[in-house]
Amino acid sequence: MQYMTDIQSHLKLVEQEIGDNVKLVAVSKTKPQEDLIEAYNVGQRHFGENKVQELEKKYQDLPKDIKWHMIGHLQTNKVKYIAPFISLIHSVDSLKLANEINKQAKKNNRVIDILLQVHVGKESSKFGLSKQALSELLSDEKFKLLNHINFIGLMTMATNTHDKQLINDEFEEVNSIFNTLKEENQLKYLSMGMSSDYKQALECGSNMIRVGSTIFGQRN
Ligand SMILES: *Cc1c(COP(=O)(O)O)cnc(C)c1O
Repeated sequence: MQYMTDIQSHLKLVEQEIGDNVKLVAVSKTKPQEDLIEAYNVGQRHFGENKVQELEKKYQDLPKDIKWHMIGHLQTNKVKYIAPFISLIHSVDSLKLANEINKQAKKNNRVIDILLQVHVGKESSKFGLSKQALSELLSDEKFKLLNHINFIGLMTMATNTHDKQLINDEFEEVNSIFNTLKEENQLKYLSMGMSSDYKQALECGSNMIRVGSTIFGQRN
């Protein structure tokens, strides 16, 4: 058997667990480029980052067939730096941001895939649309007219808690919103689940998980 590094064997374990119908985004934020290359060398192509500057640098230095995912909060004034190459933006949560992505995509002759980030937890959060805000955005003519973005799914983060039932309830709620919107909007991805909760997320209908520390080890 071929020798594998820790990163490679952790990645393979997650892959085996989730099967072929789930997209694995390897969350490589804060990790050095050598770590990404290890994952790349055993076939991983989707990587997730949450800082624009780090994303840009890694994009420049690493192989061009990597699909880059922006999973963190995105400021409108930084969209221009990732618009030329970003594969999927998971964290769209306002018309203002959608507008800017549309504008920058157009400048680059691209149509950029986006997910809308939803927040259903009781704890208030600065990020993510409530169910109500999501439905308002989707019925807004200004949003519908943005033809350089392609709305293909939803993303959510569960409340950071050990309460499995609470996490489950949140995932179930987002899954039900996803199912309601899926047909009409031709949605493809429900991005939910990270290292601590991806197994639960998959039971609740997720088909895209964002896993960092389980693959690359704890971040400092
Ligand atoms: C960091 C991060 C992850 C991955 O977290 P792990 O616990 O390391 O798997 C997933 N999603 C988002 C939005 C993140 O910021």
